[in-house]
Amino acid sequence: MSKPIVAIVGRPNVGKSTLFNSLAGGNISIVKDTPGVTRDRIYADIEWLGRNFTLIDTGGIEPDSSDVILSQMREQAQIAIDTADVIIFITDVRQGLVDSDSKVADMLRRSHKPVVLVVNKVDNFDKLMPDVYEFYNLGIGDPVPISASSKLGIGDMLDEVSKYFDDVEAEEEEDERPKIAVVGKPNVGKSSIINKLLGENRVIVSNVAGTTRDAIDTQVTWDGREYIFIDTAGLRRKNKIKEELERYSIIRTVTAVDRADVVVVVIDAVEGVTEQDAKIAGIAHERGKGVVIAVNKWDAIEKDDKTIYKYTNKVRETLSFMPYAEIMFISAQTGQRLSKLFETIDMVLANQAMRVQTGVLNEIITEAVALQQTPSDKGKRLKIYYTTQVSVKPPTFVIFVNDKELAHFSYIRYLENKIRDTFGFKGTSLKFIIRERK
Ligand code: GDP
Ligand code: GDP
Repeated sequence: MSKPIVAIVGRPNVGKSTLFNSLAGGNISIVKDTPGVTRDRIYADIEWLGRNFTLIDTGGIEPDSSDVILSQMREQAQIAIDTADVIIFITDVRQGLVDSDSKVADMLRRSHKPVVLVVNKVDNFDKLMPDVYEFYNLGIGDPVPISASSKLGIGDMLDEVSKYFDDVEAEEEEDERPKIAVVGKPNVGKSSIINKLLGENRVIVSNVAGTTRDAIDTQVTWDGREYIFIDTAGLRRKNKIKEELERYSIIRTVTAVDRADVVVVVIDAVEGVTEQDAKIAGIAHERGKGVVIAVNKWDAIEKDDKTIYKYTNKVRETLSFMPYAEIMFISAQTGQRLSKLFETIDMVLANQAMRVQTGVLNEIITEAVALQQTPSDKGKRLKIYYTTQVSVKPPTFVIFVNDKELAHFSYIRYLENKIRDTFGFKGTSLKFIIRERK
């Protein structure tokens, strides 16, 4: 199930970073952290009273002349409108209501996105509450007073935010159509791929009606089957200025990947595979999504009989954490192998949803253990009692053992490979949960 996305928007110095850090770092736990990606706190996975959501900081405004601030705030707000399910609009009680607040509030109101209006720096509720009422003038609902630095009012604020989650979750759950995200660095050819796909004769394109995401998603019918392509409007609109900024490219990736079943990671064949590609692919991997790696601009490469082999090796090496991913060599320009993309997506979808029988699974594990002894430490050897698949998307297995400490990563990887030898599971990561049974 996809998690709701919450974005923070507000002028410089109102306390966005402080709020972000107190949400991501304090008594509220970060569920997962991607090294490198969250370095400058672009996003965080947050749990609040058993609800999970992704918090994004659209941040990055350089305090400069007020004109520049307003135009940057508009960009920020647009990104939040494009990508978030709920927007936290944060203002500052000390500075009071400012003209640019009103302009951004107008923009948010017109978007019809759920907005929670937060008034920060209310360090003393008794004394400062009268100043909070002024913010009713923004016309975007009741102001929620908080103090980000003293962590006051945060719980009430999150209650307001999570009120909107039910709608998001219900809407996504009802929708059985597979969701596809096309991601990658700027200029790798994402827009070209989308436009070419949507322009194909065999493809029927229609806008998605009845959801709050209708502005950004596109329904595609191919061979009688329906797919939702996520955030295609954003790509087709070609917001190049935004995309150039790594922050925004990562926000777009995270928010699209969160909602996707299968992620197509596009790589530029001319440029070759890079660390930034690995970062982007890593977001899909850590979220357990189905993955197809599409090496694009294949037309622009001089080829001999070893070129594919060499490219494949290079991609496998740089993306070594996802050996299961399917690699395709395509060209958005000529259309080469683009129609195979749908077949590959179907294959990955099937593998993501595959369930294996416990009996067969345990036979494979027993055989694997007989072939390669389990690890031991200080005379104690790992015993595997029982393995069972507990869920899909991604396929998740629970292994019951005598001692978790002995279940080394490398041995679990070995078992994973044995499972893959039999069942394939191409294009999807597998998740293993180790449980002790005394
Ligand atoms: P951003 O530019 O919106 O990310 O704002 P920052 O989080 O960097 O905060 C700007 C300034 O406001 C910093 O000096 C913070 O310490 C201060 N600040 C943030 N939250 C509060 C608060 O709740 N009360 C007070 N008094 N100051 C705060
Ligand atoms: P995006 O930023 O990832 O959406 O990339 P675009 O679709 O805007 O493409 C960036 C540039 O690469 C454009 O100049 C495209 O014409 C070019 N391009 C995209 N796909 C291909 C391809 O398959 N072959 C070649 N030779 N150029 C391509």
